[in-house]
Amino acid sequence: MDEKSRAIPFLVLGLRVNASSRRITNSSEEKYLNKKILIINTGGTLSAVMKGNGLIPGLSVNDMQAELKMVSGDIDLEIEDFCSLDSANIFPEDWSAMAKKISGCKASYDGIVVIHGTDTLAYTSSMLSFMLRNIGIPVVLTGSQLSITNPVADAMENCRCAIHMAASGIPGVFVAFNRKVMLGCRASKVRSMSFDAFESINYPYIAKISSLGMQIEKSAVPERTGIFKLSDTYSKEVCMIKMFPGIHRSLIEAIADKGYKGLYIEAYGIGGMPFLKHDFIGTLEKVIRGGMAVVVGTQCRYEGTKMDVYETGRRALAIGAMEAHDMTGEAALTKLMWILGMTEDLNEVRDYYEINMAGEMAPVK
Ligand code: ASP
Repeated sequence: MDEKSRAIPFLVLGLRVNASSRRITNSSEEKYLNKKILIINTGGTLSAVMKGNGLIPGLSVNDMQAELKMVSGDIDLEIEDFCSLDSANIFPEDWSAMAKKISGCKASYDGIVVIHGTDTLAYTSSMLSFMLRNIGIPVVLTGSQLSITNPVADAMENCRCAIHMAASGIPGVFVAFNRKVMLGCRASKVRSMSFDAFESINYPYIAKISSLGMQIEKSAVPERTGIFKLSDTYSKEVCMIKMFPGIHRSLIEAIADKGYKGLYIEAYGIGGMPFLKHDFIGTLEKVIRGGMAVVVGTQCRYEGTKMDVYETGRRALAIGAMEAHDMTGEAALTKLMWILGMTEDLNEVRDYYEINMAGEMAPVK
């Protein structure tokens, strides 16, 4: 789409806003003056255009610059293209590259916004929460359900929220979506089409925007536990499966035979798995003895596991499976990848896994 047709939405809405002439009248926003924010564009629907094979991320930051400036008020923006990918095509090496990029330029900015496709955004925000643990500035991921070129899109509102969160000075990795801000390692995409696509799972929202402005819940922001150090390694040998009635234990054997070092299982309810007709737990025991790190989570979106209740969970704990507790699936999986990137010693993996690294898990009692 050319510059002229992209300008149409704002003319239609009568919003001929000139960023430099926009006055900030809300005193709570004055603190955002003179803040310098970097926006890194990785693609996704926010930057999408329709091409012969369907919707693809096609706009560069230059194409979106007018809109981004419009929602940033007097905040000093720098914008950069990092990649232009549908987030289905984002892979762990991209997480590592993003973490390196953010770590490398964090000293020059008050905050960083990452524009990202929504489909795998929560995996990226979870992994960045670990790789950028204890970062001293806000890193805020956002995206949208409709392209910024669409006059009824959520794109500009989401960017506005992300940019203002990035200017807030609250350090950490966050997701801003639909006027809500959540911890990056607690966010999950729960709706495929609605603007209200993301929720904070088992954790309060960090901020909400209403007629009162952006209200930040400071008590929900995890305290930094040490000095920032980029930790961008990860293991590629991690696999994830979902439990279903009829699942065969040979699946576990095949995964172990392929050389995987870690397995995240989405089990039933509070963490149950079969051991009668097919002794799935018995096979898990063998692969754990062989050195595989196994984490058990739940298919339920909310509330997490409690594996010490039923026999189907206790048996798994007894053979050395680790528990995901109240983590999201995205956080539980990426945490395992990240820890296995540092060590494959099962005792160390367990020790690290039980630590709340970035707010992803309520402390284990
Ligand atoms: N398929 C898109 C992506 O994840 C969806 C979106 O951004 O909303 O890149």
